[in-house]
Amino acid sequence: MQIHLDAEKCQGHNRCYALAPELFDVDDYGQAVLTEEGEVPDELKDKARLAAANCPEYAITLTGD
Ligand code: SF4
Repeated sequence: MQIHLDAEKCQGHNRCYALAPELFDVDDYGQAVLTEEGEVPDELKDKARLAAANCPEYAITLTGD
């Protein structure tokens, strides 16, 4: 599973960070950033799905499985 974050869509609600702090951080402007680009470790896949489902701006996308 690969995780992608569209910075253009992100509005900085930080729901993703609240739900999955292992995968997301917040930059100086309050926007979400990925802690690591690319492959999601197996143990974090459920959290990645949860964060993507809860992003109101549809800024988080997952590919693969
Ligand atoms: S939940 Fe979505 S819009 Fe909100 S900070 Fe995270 S990526 Fe950005």
